[in-house]
Amino acid sequence: MPMKLDSSLLESLMDAALAQAKEAFLADEVPVGAVVAYQGDIIAAARNSMEAMKDATAHAEMLALRRAAEKLGDWRLKDCILAVTLEPCTMCTGALRLSRLPVVVFGLRDPRAGALGSLYDLSQDERWGGPMRVISGVHQDKAKELLQNFFAQKRRKVLASEGLH
Ligand SMILES: [Zn+2]
Repeated sequence: MPMKLDSSLLESLMDAALAQAKEAFLADEVPVGAVVAYQGDIIAAARNSMEAMKDATAHAEMLALRRAAEKLGDWRLKDCILAVTLEPCTMCTGALRLSRLPVVVFGLRDPRAGALGSLYDLSQDERWGGPMRVISGVHQDKAKELLQNFFAQKRRKVLASEGLH
């Protein structure tokens, strides 16, 4: 892979993904954000939109992949990197591999649903396309803080509404 992957590029991509996750938070969606960079430049960004779109597949990664493919006019995202704040699930990992994305960067591990090493590892099985390079842990503390704040706020809202009865 000729693409240069220095830590400042990875961190700047993750900063942009975190900005998307913050937008999700403000829209009352589980705060996960993703961006796709082509040859180092961000060409697509998306946040989790399951509630707004009433769509269980509207994960940040899925939307970012679609936008990147539209931008490039090709579903093969061969020279692209996807950065996402939370470890992708099985659906998103499937889509990433179908898109032939060579590199995926994520922040926080997801022991409940992560498919890049936590619950499963679908990144390396060569029966299913070339292996995907995975880099984890970039700005994971920021991703974790956002998710924790989101769920803490949800719990407070539930407690407050129960208090009204
Ligand atoms: Zn997903």
